[in-house]
Amino acid sequence: TQDLIINSEKLTIAGQLAAGIAHEVRNPLTAIKGFFQMMEKDLKGSKMYFDVISSEINRIETILNELLVLARPQQIKYERKNIEVIINHVITLLKTQSNLNSIELIKSIEPNLPLIKCNENQLKQVFINFLKNAIEAMEKGGRITIEIRKHHTDTIMIQIVDQGSGIPEHLLSKIGEPFFTTKEQGTGLGLMICKNIIEEHKGNLHIDSSSNGTRVEILLPLL
Ligand code: ADP
Ligand code: MG
Repeated sequence: TQDLIINSEKLTIAGQLAAGIAHEVRNPLTAIKGFFQMMEKDLKGSKMYFDVISSEINRIETILNELLVLARPQQIKYERKNIEVIINHVITLLKTQSNLNSIELIKSIEPNLPLIKCNENQLKQVFINFLKNAIEAMEKGGRITIEIRKHHTDTIMIQIVDQGSGIPEHLLSKIGEPFFTTKEQGTGLGLMICKNIIEEHKGNLHIDSSSNGTRVEILLPLL
């Protein structure tokens, strides 16, 4: 089992991100440009060119949508919220996708948890990203457990455990770097965004992974 502690690792996003965005957006743009030129020459083949252009445009849209999460308003509102309500909402959003993949989402939530001071939309984004990664890692189905409980007197622990393929040891240090992905359709932005949001909530993130699956632990302070 590998343990990765991302806690104090400061994000060196700006530079990496700028280069990454330029690269990631230029690739599909180059393809779009090229296929438009081919359409000019060969109108009969247009249908195929249209399909490629359309999927490349979608790709740019996905990348930009994920990045917009980072470009939040200067002041984010932190309010006292019930974490159970937030998790339940996220689970509802992902029910269809998990059912389609024969994945059972099991939750275990300690009763009467105190409210936590947070930005609800950002926390939802975090849970969606982690759960999506868990679902995407379990091609053969299985179960994902979501556990939430108090940890010491001043922290809430949220744990997400999947039975997926795990993260190979040599890649563990790469995950969370912008644009690092092992997926054909991945953007490699999810974990970086999660790290960023958790840091802003003064929380901690730990990821353990083995070939039996991955365990994500998020600690959030009860401010
Ligand atoms: P993306 O999902 O777009 O690839 P992420 O930042 O969410 O980007 O994840 C980066 C990479 O980390 C993934 O491509 C995958 O290789 C690995 N990863 C993340 N979570 C898991 C998980 N639960 N199980 C296995 N691999 C994971
Ligand atoms: Mg992801």
